[in-house]
This record gives sequence, structure tokens and C-alpha cells, in this order.
Amino acid sequence: LAWYAEHRRDLPWRGERDPYRIWVSEVMLQQTQVVTVIPYYYAFLERFPTLADLAAASLDDVLKVWEGLGYYARARHLHAAARRLVADHAGRIPDGYRALRRLPGMGDYTAAAVASIAFGEAVAAVDGNVKRVLARLEAITDHVSQSTTTRRLRALACHLLPSDRPGDFNQALMELGALVCTPQSPTCPACPWQDDCRGRAAGIQATLPRRRARAALPHVTVTAGVIRHTDGRVLIAQRKPTAMLGGLWEFPGGKCLDDEPLTDCLRREVREELGIEIEVGQRLTVLRHSYTHFRISLHVFECRFVGGEPRAIDCADWRWARVAELDDYAFPVTDRKIVALVQGQEARG
Ligand code: SF4
Repeated sequence: LAWYAEHRRDLPWRGERDPYRIWVSEVMLQQTQVVTVIPYYYAFLERFPTLADLAAASLDDVLKVWEGLGYYARARHLHAAARRLVADHAGRIPDGYRALRRLPGMGDYTAAAVASIAFGEAVAAVDGNVKRVLARLEAITDHVSQSTTTRRLRALACHLLPSDRPGDFNQALMELGALVCTPQSPTCPACPWQDDCRGRAAGIQATLPRRRARAALPHVTVTAGVIRHTDGRVLIAQRKPTAMLGGLWEFPGGKCLDDEPLTDCLRREVREELGIEIEVGQRLTVLRHSYTHFRISLHVFECRFVGGEPRAIDCADWRWARVAELDDYAFPVTDRKIVALVQGQEARG
């Protein structure tokens, strides 16, 4: 705690007492670096200053503000939880770990972080940073992904947690992991636990925590079409709410079957998704992107609308949108690049 008082970074959510704002920061910080989160944190709270404002907003508006931050299920769950709290709990955020844990998208870590930081409940918040610090502190050499190891680390975190300042302690441990006990090369001489650290004493700290080698991410070939109407508008489709990237908009297309030619894939996918026929023209670009469990090569084609009336067969909704209007919709990062490309084409005439 003394180290934290002296060395902690001055972040926008430090010292925050409002549970809603703490919750937003903790959700945004999952799997995402602080420097990336800061502008989104400000923009989100400016647009939705209170839980009631968030609950009253449309999911489209929430996703638009979240656009580019990734892991969009976080935004959908946050929005759903806000609506549930307004509908069933008079807009009040529960002040205990157990009640928080029952909200949509509220995992062990986030519930513990909000309960301890906002309400002073003595519950340990164990994220990747904390696991790393504790695995090194106790020289735990078992794989951290094993449930027995997770339980052991959680028990250790609970054992260390002081009952009087649990929120500060949780944040201190995370900050130590972020600033000193970093993944590649921990700066042990700057660490307040250097004399107690068993990993350091054994000289194995940099090899901890142990993880199983990750299998290479599977690769998927995907197509997308910039389908133009005769009046210059382009067709966009909204992903189903339960799908990955649910609720976001995209250029129609989808995954290629084994050995399927790209243009055949695109025509088939557009027919299955929207019930229309297209003519596939030249390839505009190939975008590569890695998600958590797979990576894609997205082949983007210029297309001409040939016939049929679009219907939301395998998507949530669709629009013929003017190029200038595309900025009003929330797109995943790859489709946002296609938007930039299409807008660049239009600017050049
Ligand atoms: Fe991490 Fe080194 Fe501190 Fe141990 S002494 S907790 S390895 S920074």
C-alpha cells in the first residue's frame, strides 16, 4: 500500500467513488491496455454520464461509442446490465460481490473489483497481473491455466487482502504487475516485495507464470463485398445480436468453404444472408486480422447489385447507406478499414 501511494499512475478512474464509473473502467480494462482505454472512458462517460443514461440509450449508440475498443460483448453486457438494474432495482448498482456477480457479463474479477473499490468489500480481484505477481511471489511453477492453480492463487490473494483497504490493495497489486512485475522482465530491485519473493530468490521469476504453449491460431478465409446500388449507395448488414461482434454493422459476405473460389463464396454468402444477387468485380484489398481464437484474411471485392429485394435472412438488419452516412454506424475494425477505403474512393471521385 505504501508503494502504491507513492508510485501509482494518475489515471482518470483513480480515486473514483461512483460505482457506475468504476464499473465502466473495469469493464473497459479487461484485455485492453490503459493507454487505449483512457479516451474511450472519457467519451463513454460524456455520452452516458449515469447508469440511467446508459439504460435509456440504444444498443447501436452504445456500440458506436465502443467502436474500435474490441470485445464488443463487454458493451452489450454492460448495456443489458444497466437496463436490468433500471428495470428491477430502481437503477441502483448492488453493493455486494454476490449480487454484482449475477449481472450480465459480470465475471469474478469485475464483480470483485467493483465491490472492493466502490463499496470496500474485502474480496480479492484476481486478474492476469495479480496471477503473475503472486505466482512469482510464491514461486508457483504449476501451469496457471489449471483450475487448481487458479484456486491456489485466489486463496493466496484472499489471504493477503487487508480488510480495511481492500480496494486500494487490489489496485496496488494490479499496479505492481503493470509497472514493476511485468511479463517479460520484472524490475525486482524496484519491487517492495523483493526480499520476500520466492521466485526471485530461486532466480526463476522471469519464467513464471508457466503456461501451456498455445496452439497456432486457425486461419479462416473470408470475403466481403462493397455492393453498390445504381445511385451509389452501398449495402451494409447488421450482425445478429448473439453472434460474435453482435450488433455491429459490416459489409456483407462470409467464410469460404473448403477450396471454394472467393467470388463464388461471396455470391453465395450474400444470397444466403440477404437474398439478393450480385456481380462480383475487382478485388479492392485483403485485410488480415487476429481475434482471440482465430485469424482471418478478409478479401474485399467491388460488387454490383443485380437483383432481388434485400431481406434480413441471416443478419439482424440491413441498409442501403450513402458513403457519407457510414460514419453513423458501428463497424468492427476490419470493416472500418473498408469504410475508409470506400470514403477515399469517393473523395477522389
Ligand atoms: Fe515480481 Fe520481482 Fe517483485 Fe518478485 S521481486 S514480485 S518477481 S517484481
